[in-house]
Amino acid sequence: MRALGFDIRIALLLAAVLGVAAGCSPRSEPLEGIRPDPDYSGRFRFEFQAMGTDAALVVCAQDPRSARRMIGPAVEQVRTVESLMSMFRPDSDVGQLNAAGAQHPVRVSPLTLRVLRASAHFSQLTGGAFDATYTPLRSVWLKAQGAGAFPPEEELRRALASVGFDKLVLSDGAAMFAGEGMSVDLGGIAKGFAIDLAAEAMKGAGAQAALVDIGGDIRVVGRPGAGESWRILVRDPRGEGQPPIVLRLSDVAVATSGDYARYFSVGGRRFSHIIDPRTGWPVQDVPSATVVAPDATTADALATGISVLGAQKGLELIASLPGVECMIMAREAGEGEAQGPTRLYYSKDFRTLVE
Ligand code: AMP
Ligand code: MG
Repeated sequence: MRALGFDIRIALLLAAVLGVAAGCSPRSEPLEGIRPDPDYSGRFRFEFQAMGTDAALVVCAQDPRSARRMIGPAVEQVRTVESLMSMFRPDSDVGQLNAAGAQHPVRVSPLTLRVLRASAHFSQLTGGAFDATYTPLRSVWLKAQGAGAFPPEEELRRALASVGFDKLVLSDGAAMFAGEGMSVDLGGIAKGFAIDLAAEAMKGAGAQAALVDIGGDIRVVGRPGAGESWRILVRDPRGEGQPPIVLRLSDVAVATSGDYARYFSVGGRRFSHIIDPRTGWPVQDVPSATVVAPDATTADALATGISVLGAQKGLELIASLPGVECMIMAREAGEGEAQGPTRLYYSKDFRTLVE
């Protein structure tokens, strides 16, 4: 009886360990969902949930087996980024870094370090418009949203004192905040990074032509057929009634930041989930920004960054970057409190990408 009890406990423990392993290990991702793309012969598609949104991987392959060989490692990469960089997981690198605050350095994986370094780069490039340490402001506005009233200036000022990527010290294998009350949120860049890793993984597994889509941010690899380019649909920022904008792309990435998907209201005003780390106020005048860039990390970070910069400064920045194009929807100045009408702005060669 005793022995049986012991066996059962061991069996339960083993089952739990195996169950946890099966649930957590990216390798065990069930890929039964891989199916031939209904619209294109020779393409296989796998849809899954990742980073709080819909994701899809498409690959041109001879048969389902080779499709699976290319898609498996890509899913694994996305899961790795998720588990390292989510601010909502206490055991992630970001969760631990935020918990440590300015107390002690935290060892982070080389991948997290790469994204933190990229964040520092885009923070510099955008003059602080993109700044993943904006998070104390996020807390202020979450509170304001709950209270239904604008935050007191003093509260914003205090939060602003704990913002600034220059106060995140990165060394080999570790990161540490140099100021009190600081934290980081890689939500404006990690999706792009995951897309890049997934695209590289598919290439590494032999894919000549592939597409990675996480929440509408996309990177395409190669060409879907000889002389063809990928047809990518981007939601028309002018609204529901408009047909999507069709882009013709190969070997580039496209990312869109917009307040149509995620926004909040305080005092009857609608705000984007993107916050200007220089003023402390959420973005109001850029309902949408789409960036095409050689890689998805760049496209993702710049779409967020130019949402903060606005049309004029955003276009200037994009014009200085080779291989980068953008479409920005921005509000013109209104009369007094009233918001002005919106207008679409394009970088020099954006329209050459439109079908
Ligand atoms: P995206 O969806 O790529 O436009 O990024 C928006 C997300 O980026 C937000 O949900 C936040 O997680 C984060 N974020 C908000 N404001 C900023 C900012 N100024 N700089 C960097 N990340 C930000
Ligand atoms: Mg972004």
